[in-house]
Amino acid sequence: MSKVLIIGAGGVGRVVAHKCAQARDVIDAMTIASRTRSKCDAIAAEISSLPVKTAQVDADDVAQTTALIKAEQPQLVINVALPYQDLHIMDACLAAGVDYLDTANYEPPDTAHFEYSWQWAYEDRFREKNLMALLGSGFDPGVTNVYTALAAQDYLDEIQELDIIDANAGNHGQPFATNFNPEINIREVTAVCRHWEDGKWVETPPLSTKHSFDFPEGIGPMNIYRMFHEELESLVKHIPTIRKAQFWMTFSDNYLKHLEVLQNVGMTRIDPVRFQGQDIIPLQFLKALLPDPGSLGPLTTGRTCIGVIARGLKDGKPRQVYIYNICEHERAYRETNSQAISYTTGVPAATGAVMMLSGLWKKPGVWNMEQFAPTPFLERMKSLGLSTVVVEGEWPRL
Ligand code: NDP
Repeated sequence: MSKVLIIGAGGVGRVVAHKCAQARDVIDAMTIASRTRSKCDAIAAEISSLPVKTAQVDADDVAQTTALIKAEQPQLVINVALPYQDLHIMDACLAAGVDYLDTANYEPPDTAHFEYSWQWAYEDRFREKNLMALLGSGFDPGVTNVYTALAAQDYLDEIQELDIIDANAGNHGQPFATNFNPEINIREVTAVCRHWEDGKWVETPPLSTKHSFDFPEGIGPMNIYRMFHEELESLVKHIPTIRKAQFWMTFSDNYLKHLEVLQNVGMTRIDPVRFQGQDIIPLQFLKALLPDPGSLGPLTTGRTCIGVIARGLKDGKPRQVYIYNICEHERAYRETNSQAISYTTGVPAATGAVMMLSGLWKKPGVWNMEQFAPTPFLERMKSLGLSTVVVEGEWPRL
């Protein structure tokens, strides 16, 4: 039996704690630590099935985090703080000699730049210490990588094209709110779009390519916009037959209208602005004004539909497969006091933890999700609350 240390007590941290508490065959103790201890205490109070400790930690302080890990002695650190903390928490795991898992790749706070190079650079250090780091064990990245691995394992001999499509067909009734940390969300959405085509990255202006996509199970047509997403980078590296890989996300006209105005007036800037004698980062100030995504749980209705369409060859003939999950916001809230965006991230994080702790996914070094066998992960994820649909057919090229 194992103990986990969860760092971060936001919307995702809450779901991870609930779901680790349900994996009683593998996990029998947990500590939740974050910058604001009262948020950890609030989550701990919702869990009665196993002992939960809480702690205050500034995860940017490597010595402090190392001391906490040594004091708590977990077998795994689950990082669901912000991407800015990734390298600091990886350093602390190396110093304390413990495995590591996260759901989002490292971003330097002063540039919205998304790439795995900083974390892949830890490969030798983790391997030499016989430790494992699992990167991007959320939904996207995370389950989308596992779905791609499933397409490669069971449905296609060669994947040639990949479309990852993320729909939030839910409604929170707020004039403008983001579904996860507003700062991280807006940095991602306003970044220059990159997609993979014929062996190279192609750049286009943010959200400048749009299609209508007819989502399954009664969701129907919604507008999807192309953007860069970090799993594209690891997938084209680890599955080199992929000639074209794109990521698409739905946005409502209302969200885009607000975002455009906020960008035009400079509220999404991430460089310091001098204001009344002190430096402020406009996007951080905007985050303080926007609804806390954690507060959207009781307000959000509808469903998410996130999945991949993989196109390629099977037995020499063209074949397409669409692999997706549908998650209902209200059900997620009933189960974990969180909406479906936090739920669809937290369930795979807890599933990845179970894979590592049970030894099913266990190798020294730094790994992405598509590098492991998909089936045991998807079976465990189903038992923790998220199921998978596989449909073969034909979809219009995007
Ligand atoms: P929140 O902002 O709700 O929560 C972040 C938590 O991290 C807060 O408790 C915050 O503390 C804590 N934190 C921030 N800085 C530090 C620090 N220096 N030391 C210790 N704790 C810190 O974010 P979410 O829960 O929405 O998202 C969590 C992570 O999940 C993010 O990295 C996000 O990018 C990722 N994510 C991944 C997805 C995927 O599918 N792969 C999808 C959605 C999110 P405080 O409360 O004091 O601010």
